Amino acid sequence: MKVIKFGGTSVGTPDRMKKVAELIAKEQAIVVLSAVSGTTNSLVEIAQLLFQNERNKAKKQIETLKDSYHTFVNELLSSATQQEKAHDLVASHFSHIDSFTKDLFTIHEEKTILAQGELLSSALFQLYLEEIGVHSCLLPALDFMRIDKDLEPDSFYIKHNLERELTHCQSKLYITQGYICRNVFGEIDNLKRGGSDYSASLIGAAIQATEIEIWTDIDGMHNNDPRVVEDTFSIEHLSYDEAAELAYFGAKILHPASVYPAQLYNIPIFLKNTLEPTKTGTKIEQQLGDREFTAIAAKDGITAIKIKSGRMLLAYGFLRKIFDIFERYKTPIDVITTSEVAVSLTIDDNTNLDAIQEELRYLGEVEINKNLSIVCVVGNFSHDTMGSGNKIFTSLQHIPIRMVSYGGSQHNVSIVIETDYKKEALVSLNNGLFNQN
Ligand code: ADP
Ligand code: ASP
Ligand code: MG
Repeated sequence: MKVIKFGGTSVGTPDRMKKVAELIAKEQAIVVLSAVSGTTNSLVEIAQLLFQNERNKAKKQIETLKDSYHTFVNELLSSATQQEKAHDLVASHFSHIDSFTKDLFTIHEEKTILAQGELLSSALFQLYLEEIGVHSCLLPALDFMRIDKDLEPDSFYIKHNLERELTHCQSKLYITQGYICRNVFGEIDNLKRGGSDYSASLIGAAIQATEIEIWTDIDGMHNNDPRVVEDTFSIEHLSYDEAAELAYFGAKILHPASVYPAQLYNIPIFLKNTLEPTKTGTKIEQQLGDREFTAIAAKDGITAIKIKSGRMLLAYGFLRKIFDIFERYKTPIDVITTSEVAVSLTIDDNTNLDAIQEELRYLGEVEINKNLSIVCVVGNFSHDTMGSGNKIFTSLQHIPIRMVSYGGSQHNVSIVIETDYKKEALVSLNNGLFNQN
C-alpha cells in the first residue's frame, strides 16, 4: 500500500480538491491531507488574538473563516444531501472553535484550534469522494498518531493503533489528517508547522508502505530555494541523506524530520506537483548520486554563540560542559566550530537564550550574534575530493562569513552569514556551482 500526502495548496480550492480525488480514485493507499491553504495560518492568528484577550477580533476572524468554508462547500459538492452534511460539519467545527472565545485561553485550547484545519479538509474531501461514488474510510489521526514525553513520535503506539484502525473499516482507500496527533497526556497536539509530511512518513514506516508520495505545488526538490533564486531546476534523484540535510537546512518542501522514518525502512519518497502531475518530480532513496553539488538551502532565524576561554586550552571535558547546558534547556545545536581557545555554535530556538547565556558565563566570555542564516551546500564531498571548498568560497568571496562547518558529514558544507546577505549568497552560489551565469 502507498501513502500519498497532499499539501495545503493541493487541496486549497474546491477545484484542486476535485483534482486530488481524480488522482487517487484508483489507488490503493492511505491519503494524508493538510488543511486547506491559509487555514492553519488563520487559526494561528485566531489563537494569538485569544491569547491577547482580543475576543471580538478573534470572533470576527472565526466568522470570516467559517464563511469561506461555507462557500467552499457550495463549490465542492453538488448534491443537496452532501451539501447539508458538509454545512453541518463546518458549523460544528466552527462552533467548537467559537467555544474557546468565552473563557481562559491556554496552550491546550490553542492546539485544539490548530487541529481543526486538517479535521475539516479530510472530512470535506471524504464527503466529495462519497458524492462521486469512490469508497473510502476515514482514519482519525487522533486515534493513532502520538508523540511521547520527549515530543518524539511513539512508533510502537502509532503502528499498533493504526493497524487496529485499518481493520475497523475495509477499503482500498483510506483518508487521514496530517499534522495532528495526541501527546503523552492524550491531549490534542501537532507535529509542528509543515508536519503533514512527517505524518505521511510515519504512517509509511508504520505500514511499511511500498512508497510515500508527497504532492505539493512544485515539481520536486529544486537545486536552490525557488522563493529566493530565479532559474532553479528540479532534481530527479536524491539520497535520503541529501534530502534530510536540505529539509533540515531550510528546503520548505519537506518537513525536516520526514526523511528518517522512510529511510529506516528503505521506503522511496516521491515529490510530485499536483498542478503538473505529469512532471517527473524527485525520487528520494538510499542510492547516492555521483554529482559534486546537489543543491543549496538556507535557514533563517539563527543565533551564533561564541564561548571564549583560556581554560579550554589543552583541557578535556570543556565541550561536555557546554553541551550539558544546551541539553538541559532542550535547545538543539545546529553548527559548531572550535578553535583552541573558543567554541562557536548556532541555535535556531532562542526561547531559553538568556538562561543559557547566564550559565555559559561561568565557562568563559560569551558573545551572541542574532539575525544570521545558515547556508547549506549539499553534495558529495568525500574525503578524497578536491576543489569543492574552493568553488564554494570563490562564489562567496564578496560575502562576510561568520562560521564554516566542513567535514561533519560527506554531504554538507554549512556556512553561517548575516541574513541580509542571504539572497546574494544563494544567487552567487547558484551561478558558481551550477554554471547558470
Ligand atoms: P505544502 O503546502 O504542499 O506542504 P510547502 O509550502 O510546505 O507545500 O512546500 C512547498 C514550497 O517549498 C514550494 O512552493 C517552494 O516555494 C518551497 N521550497 C523551498 N525550498 C525549496 C526547494 N529547494 N525545492 C522546492 N521547493 C522549495
Ligand atoms: N497545516 C499545517 C501547516 O500549515 C501542516 C502542513 O500543512 O503540513 O503547517
Ligand atoms: Mg509543507
